[in-house]
Amino acid sequence: MKCKKCNSENPENAVFCRVCGNKLESHSHSKSSYYGICNVLFWMGLLVSSYCLISVLFPISWYEKFFDGSQHLYYSDPFGIIRDGKKWYMQEMMSTLIVSSFVTVILFYLRKKSTK
Ligand SMILES: [Zn+2]
Repeated sequence: MKCKKCNSENPENAVFCRVCGNKLESHSHSKSSYYGICNVLFWMGLLVSSYCLISVLFPISWYEKFFDGSQHLYYSDPFGIIRDGKKWYMQEMMSTLIVSSFVTVILFYLRKKSTK
């Protein structure tokens, strides 16, 4: 660990610089919390994208009858977060799937990078 004040090398677990006595900032702490945030977001992204994938592949569908005798086919995900006609349901689920997968891949690399 390098001292910011005098630029001398110190042991990793040092609290104060052995040359000038300046308080050293522990990078290991901020790095691990950064990794923790990336880790949580990564798993959340993975959960959202896998949930969207299941919803796109195995949607729940049903017919709803209206007073005038017409019926409409509705689609919903397992927890019923998005409930709509087929077209909009698929569009919303697919776009959420694409965005969440993209974010998850980025978070995967950020998480991998933060461990080094
Ligand atoms: Zn120093």
